[in-house]
Amino acid sequence: MKESQNNQMRNVLVVGGAGYIGSHVSKALALKGLKPIVVDNFYSGHRDFVKWGPLIEVDIKEREKLAAALRGVEFDAVIHLAAHIEVGESVQNPEKYFLNNVGGTENLLSVLEELGRNVPFVFSSTAAVYGQPEVDLISESAPLKPINPYGESKMQAESRIRAWSERVRAPVCLLRYFNVAGADPECEIGEAHDPETHLIPRLLMSLLKPSTDFKVFGEDYPTPDGTCIRDYVHVWDLAQAHLAALHYLKTHPGPHVFNVGYSKGFSVKEIIQAAEKVCGLRVPYTKAERRAGDPAILVADGSRALRELGWHPEFAGRLDQIIAHAWAWHKSN
Ligand code: UDP
Repeated sequence: MKESQNNQMRNVLVVGGAGYIGSHVSKALALKGLKPIVVDNFYSGHRDFVKWGPLIEVDIKEREKLAAALRGVEFDAVIHLAAHIEVGESVQNPEKYFLNNVGGTENLLSVLEELGRNVPFVFSSTAAVYGQPEVDLISESAPLKPINPYGESKMQAESRIRAWSERVRAPVCLLRYFNVAGADPECEIGEAHDPETHLIPRLLMSLLKPSTDFKVFGEDYPTPDGTCIRDYVHVWDLAQAHLAALHYLKTHPGPHVFNVGYSKGFSVKEIIQAAEKVCGLRVPYTKAERRAGDPAILVADGSRALRELGWHPEFAGRLDQIIAHAWAWHKSN
């Protein structure tokens, strides 16, 4: 996207902009000359990740406060990433997920409608909406059959956004992320969940702090080495997909759905081997039971985003770079 193409799009509301992905999206917007206006409640976001534009501190679960906070704010597009994201926790506490991920999204949409802001809208969805499809590569037309409350909550949020898009005629892109990993190549921001449950950061944390237990959840899956297979996407490439989506919506109102993945899967054991190579260290781990809600294989058919969205990922096929950037960030933080 060139500067001159951004004429009508200046300010972008980044809801959940203090989080891991939202902060990368904010940085990517700023580098294109756009102004990210971050909306966050800091439940899981970080104040020092809000570096590229103003902040509105509010919880999307509180509709009236959200309406008051957004009244009078000038913005030309919305990127909505505010969500709880832990599969395991969603199994333990589904209400928390429906309240925030579905209820919070409904509040945001209804506030936008009340304020008459039928602006382009990009939503952070997930491969978890597909459940466990019996195909090698999952395309956007695969049936939606989530197998955990997290995936279910995102599927319901998608359907609310589609209905809003049709009702108010707002352009919409639903981006279904596969496994996001890595860190800003300039090392300004990175992955820092608390508690951290994701594979690559947990593995790297166990190398930096040997008291951190690193477990492999399940070695009896129907995969070549028995461990789960995922499609790991560099967070910087994912951030660029949001920019591509905003640009696309100028001429293609939608609603549209795009997978964001590289169409290539790696098993947990392959990730361990790659990390050992990048970090030059052996990765000790303990074998553990399968984690509730984990499908065996999730790999994108990511061809639609490449073909239609004009997404040009820089790190496809570069698992070493994904791990190296994450490693650099973890070491410096
Ligand atoms: N995983 C693991 N040990 C960990 C964290 C994750 O074996 O400490 C496995 C997990 O069971 C899944 C894969 O790694 O098969 C990716 O999990 P992650 O939580 O990173 O992402 P998810 O696929 O759940 O979104």
